[in-house]
Amino acid sequence: MEKITSLAKRRGFVYQSSEIYGGQNGAWDYGPLGIELKNRIAGAWWKEMTRLHDNIVGLDAAILMHPRTWEASGHVENFTDPLVDCKKCKSRFRADQIPQEALAAKKCPDCGGELTDTRKFNLMFKTHIGPAEDTASIIYLRPETAQGIYVNYKNIIQSNRMKVPFGIAQIGKAFRNEIVTKNFIFRTCEFEQMEMQYFVKPGTDEEWFSEWRKQRWAYYEKLGVKMDHLRWHQHGSDELAHYAKDAYDIEYLFPMGWRELEGVHNRTDYDLGRHTQFSGKDLQYIDQDNNNERYIPYIIETSAGLTRNLLMILCDAYDEEQVADKGNDDDWRTVLRFHPDLAPVTVAILPLMKKDGLAELAQDIRAELKEDYATDYDQAGAIGRRYRRQDEAGTPFCVTVDYQTKEDGTVTLRFRDSMEQIRVPKTELANRIRSEIKAYKRIK
Ligand code: ATP
Repeated sequence: MEKITSLAKRRGFVYQSSEIYGGQNGAWDYGPLGIELKNRIAGAWWKEMTRLHDNIVGLDAAILMHPRTWEASGHVENFTDPLVDCKKCKSRFRADQIPQEALAAKKCPDCGGELTDTRKFNLMFKTHIGPAEDTASIIYLRPETAQGIYVNYKNIIQSNRMKVPFGIAQIGKAFRNEIVTKNFIFRTCEFEQMEMQYFVKPGTDEEWFSEWRKQRWAYYEKLGVKMDHLRWHQHGSDELAHYAKDAYDIEYLFPMGWRELEGVHNRTDYDLGRHTQFSGKDLQYIDQDNNNERYIPYIIETSAGLTRNLLMILCDAYDEEQVADKGNDDDWRTVLRFHPDLAPVTVAILPLMKKDGLAELAQDIRAELKEDYATDYDQAGAIGRRYRRQDEAGTPFCVTVDYQTKEDGTVTLRFRDSMEQIRVPKTELANRIRSEIKAYKRIK
């Protein structure tokens, strides 16, 4: 993880928040390559969950919601973690994440000092809206994006004539006052979620629950993720959230071990039932195709962390490889093997020399490719070193412009993974890259 954190900073994927002030715990900033990668991951998810389904639509709800939302959802009462402190070294732990023998003996796992009693700690960030800081003005930063979907479910049925089963997808920020934030961007206080809530008829929920598990698994396969680094974990009765009938996590083998990447939950009619109760509004679905039958739909939720997916994609893509690359004295390379659809830069254009019109020619090629691809341009240093820099940023294709380009209009197209180089007429570049992306198969 240290190598990935350091590469992420060095190459402008992720920086510590407010670093010049010593950093802000639990918050991170996404640099030029990081924001491109994050946007692509979000784009791939959005396409998968909306465009590829005729009955799933999108939403972007506000982060600030009426505080009753969080009473209805159960977060005010239940969204807590058990917290213990060490009286000696002042370390703070989640009681469910330290060895249970240490907890029973009230012994700090770090220094052996005495631990406090376990107390409940609510993870929601609370603030005030308006100028008066009284209880009437309390408002929360949303701890999940799901509730914004539930409170809009009737609006969407009406405005978009949706019929059960249907889904609503949303990507957005969520905030949790996490007790322990470690492992880089794995668990942070400010993060982004990609959630799709699927509304189904009660009785069909188990079937849909199993269908969505299948689809979410297939999604990661399509992204080219190492499938032996993914596994399912079914929640035991002691782990199930207060709203869930059944829940599975997709776990990924991160450098610190197997950890949750995404949850697929059968949330039953709990949420819409509670919002009916707390808002006094009738949230039943009226099935006009079935004698106006009324019911509160069950909800199957797929909930993935966008920033956690980004960490997974970085870990999954990271590779160090010994190579014997012509023209290069250094025989090791660090390479990020991103799927070309996710890579922050798709194609880098590199003139062999700055002089003799090669730079201008390369700039012209870049200008043509820009409309279709995320491009980079680099004319500084030895060509081998420039390839290395692009490998480290995960750029799948490099185009080198040399003296032969001036003569016959061909360029070198170099592939990141195989390091193979071929000559291609520059007029065919855009199409060639497109077909290479379509045919992409991960080789390592
Ligand atoms: P955990 O048990 O790890 O605290 P959770 O089960 O509470 O997580 P969910 O509420 O199911 O997580 O959230 C759905 C997804 O949102 C998670 O699978 C994860 O990818 C992401 N997520 C949750 N909390 C965080 C966080 N603090 N930082 C980054 N991503 C998060």
